[in-house]
Amino acid sequence: MYKFLFGPVPSRRLGMSLGVDLVPKIVCSLNCVYCEVGKTTELTLERKEYINYHEIIAELTSYFKNNPDPDYITFSGYGEPTLNIRIGDIISFIKKHKPTLPIAVLTNGTLLFDKNVQESLKEVDVLLPSLDAATESVFRKLNRPVKTLELEKYINGLISFCKNFKGKIWLEIFILPGYNNSLSELIALKKIILKINPDTIQLNSLDRPGIIKSLRSATSEELQQIVDFWNLDNVEIISAVKERKKIQSYRKDIESTILGTITRRPCTLDDLEKILGIHSNEINKYLSVLDSDNKIEIVTQKRGDFYQIKKNKHCKI
Ligand code: SF4
Repeated sequence: MYKFLFGPVPSRRLGMSLGVDLVPKIVCSLNCVYCEVGKTTELTLERKEYINYHEIIAELTSYFKNNPDPDYITFSGYGEPTLNIRIGDIISFIKKHKPTLPIAVLTNGTLLFDKNVQESLKEVDVLLPSLDAATESVFRKLNRPVKTLELEKYINGLISFCKNFKGKIWLEIFILPGYNNSLSELIALKKIILKINPDTIQLNSLDRPGIIKSLRSATSEELQQIVDFWNLDNVEIISAVKERKKIQSYRKDIESTILGTITRRPCTLDDLEKILGIHSNEINKYLSVLDSDNKIEIVTQKRGDFYQIKKNKHCKI
């Protein structure tokens, strides 16, 4: 059982993707209102060795020795991976020992203005940065950044990194109705996208609409309207939930284990993580599918959001 590796998780974009976590829960430069991992507990731009380099290398070495290669190694997890100052060394280690294994980094992109971060990511095959706002006010409301981080600096870092990067850039934009889908914001976002010039732009919205009560997911029609409005030839809508079950790496046994656990008693995401020893990112993928299949529901109690079997519904486990 690994502490910093998780999965391989079913990913439509990355196939069998082995996750690597480089920061503890939840260290991030943003505190996005839609974050599925939870509220940021350490809001920071400080780069340091949040998780010891040697511990991560020991886990990777053991994984490589005992398992077939995944389709991708993906740096993601509990927070912003580029905050770990050793990310470049870990990427170099993987490239040295598994030169053909592609590496993906899921990042909020806020630290790309830093030349050291740019340098540490140069061997990455696919960078998936996110950008949800084109104006400072939307940025503050939606992504709730660390005080000292200004949107302009963030966007300029993203543009400058992408100009020189040799790998692929898949820019992810999270659309949240009422926050960043106004006409003026969409026009401003398009201007920035053209400057970033990514290989693809992936539009996403809440996987589980119920997770934050005041937020709603953008419908597929709303997302399609944005695609049409932008009229760019490389925008795609991530219909993650519907597609996820069809992915080869989707594990029916994990789905059944989650259902079996919450049949006995409702659980929070944290409970499930502790009981099953599975990373919350991975559990979240399965909860999204179960929610979309109408098999589970969320009940909010004092201790948080509890997942339980949907009432009055016979559910095959
Ligand atoms: S950047 Fe990602 S991890 Fe950080 S708060 Fe936003 S959604 Fe959560």
